[in-house]
Amino acid sequence: MMTNVETIVLDGKGLAQRIKQQLRNDVTLFQERVGRAPQLVVVLVGQYGPSQIYVRNKIRAAHELGITGRVLQLSEQVSEHEFTETLVGLNQDPTVDAVLVQLPLPSHLPSELVFKYLSPEKDADGLSYYNLGLLLAKNHLVAPCTPAGIIELLRSYQVTLTGKKVVVVGRSLIVGKPLSVMLTHEDATVTLAHSKTKNLKELCRDSDICIFAAHQKQYFNRDFIRQNGIVIDVGIHQETNGKVVGDVDFASMMGWASMVTPVPGGVGPLTVAMLLRNTVILASKRNYVRN
Ligand code: NDP
Repeated sequence: MMTNVETIVLDGKGLAQRIKQQLRNDVTLFQERVGRAPQLVVVLVGQYGPSQIYVRNKIRAAHELGITGRVLQLSEQVSEHEFTETLVGLNQDPTVDAVLVQLPLPSHLPSELVFKYLSPEKDADGLSYYNLGLLLAKNHLVAPCTPAGIIELLRSYQVTLTGKKVVVVGRSLIVGKPLSVMLTHEDATVTLAHSKTKNLKELCRDSDICIFAAHQKQYFNRDFIRQNGIVIDVGIHQETNGKVVGDVDFASMMGWASMVTPVPGGVGPLTVAMLLRNTVILASKRNYVRN
């Protein structure tokens, strides 16, 4: 007989606040030792609306912690050469500790430029090829922000990953691929699914934890989830009325899944908290401050 499950809504916002609170001491220590605040530069190319909102949130969160956050706005038409030169300039600027290039870039700029030219020592999103290599080898200093936030969230709710079947839906370089590696490091058995995956519903229903990063608005409902399964929603979709929703049909998970992340207030705030943590880690390492 099916019983109604008491679904826990995972509080990413609250966890992000606690992580940021802990970082305050590190920022103060840095300030005392180095005589200035850590500096994060966020590079924004063009005027893409959602990116402008994300960048504003990241800079505001940095300032709240006492981190110097600066937006470097480039024109939509910036050439490949100018863009690369900008990254090289930031690499060489001794007052800049961490750099994040807000993705997506306009179509004429391959995101590989970021992964290739941004110094691994300043790579706040852990996406440079060098840092991704270190991640594969489980020898990394910083991990990509969204996957790192998801691992933190599961950890904070004492979700054991060892031996669990986890499906990650979406294989981007910023979310799905690094997340599958990090979950493997946590001893989960991971399936990385994508648009060509066959029998996705069955695959998801056979998993303990389903993580959706497919950019398919409210597409994944309880039919994809086994009763008592855990659901992590990475997707972000802005509706015309300003409301933000995810890849998951949240309402359908209530009373069915054992845990589900809300959108907003789930993975998103943790991405920002991990960015700030990476900034402090990179700043402290570059300036020989122990933290
Ligand atoms: P991408 O568009 O780069 O990748 C989407 C992935 O999903 C691709 O691998 C694609 O497969 C797969 N996919 C698409 N449709 C389906 C489907 N019907 N079934 C199975 N797989 C499918 O997205 P991102 O990784 O950049 O972002 C994913 C979502 O997460 C977006 O909504 C984005 O806004 C959000 N996001 C949220 C963040 C946060 O902080 N919460 C941070 C970053 C992103 P294929 O490779 O075959 O094309």
